[in-house]
Amino acid sequence: MRLDKFLAETGVGSRKESKQLLKKGLVTVNEEVIKDGKTQIDEKRDVIKFLGEQLTYQKYYYYMLHKPQGVISATEDKWDQTVIDLLKNEDYREDLFPVGRLDKDTEGLLLLTNDGQLAHQLLSPKKHVDKEYFAQVQGIVTEEDVRHFAAGFALTNKEQVKPSQLMIESVDKINEISEIRLIIQEGKFHQVKRMFEAVDKKVVYLKRLRMGSLWLDEELALGEYRILTEEELEKLK
Ligand code: URA
Repeated sequence: MRLDKFLAETGVGSRKESKQLLKKGLVTVNEEVIKDGKTQIDEKRDVIKFLGEQLTYQKYYYYMLHKPQGVISATEDKWDQTVIDLLKNEDYREDLFPVGRLDKDTEGLLLLTNDGQLAHQLLSPKKHVDKEYFAQVQGIVTEEDVRHFAAGFALTNKEQVKPSQLMIESVDKINEISEIRLIIQEGKFHQVKRMFEAVDKKVVYLKRLRMGSLWLDEELALGEYRILTEEELEKLK
């Protein structure tokens, strides 16, 4: 890889900034000052230092975000704040993207990465990765709904959804509000909301708790994020 690309990828600076830093003689490759950004380096073997500090190359980045409401699951948007805008400057990378989408008014677990292969693995319908949600639903969710969801059914537009696991956590019969957990393995547009719509109920609050083996860290406040631990990443892959 080119030295200027390496410097940009390790966060030293943009390609343009790196060029200036190289010119000033602040970068060494195997203890030799290199000023030309086009120099090819072996990022696994060569020892590259900036201001005497060794730089380590990391190709992929993985962050768990506790997505708040009002933020959209996109990399950029003209009007709305995006999940990428929530990253601090030092973590901001142009190649990061959210793995799947949560609606603007949905909260919860969102993985941000630049690893396209892992994203595909988690999102491909063929891989049957669980997505677990907590929801508050207007209406009284019944055992009949649980059986209906377990069998798979058609949405109001006749689109078929696969069997899913619905668990009733509580039912407030006076206010007609139910709290549920739902595990689905698909990711259709507005899927959870549309599933309840099909049984004449309305999701009024939705939060994703889990994707595959990865649980939302409840220590993260809304809008906060952290790097995935090695253990979390290993299990996820
Ligand atoms: N299902 C929905 O309806 N909305 C989401 O954000 C995620 C799943």
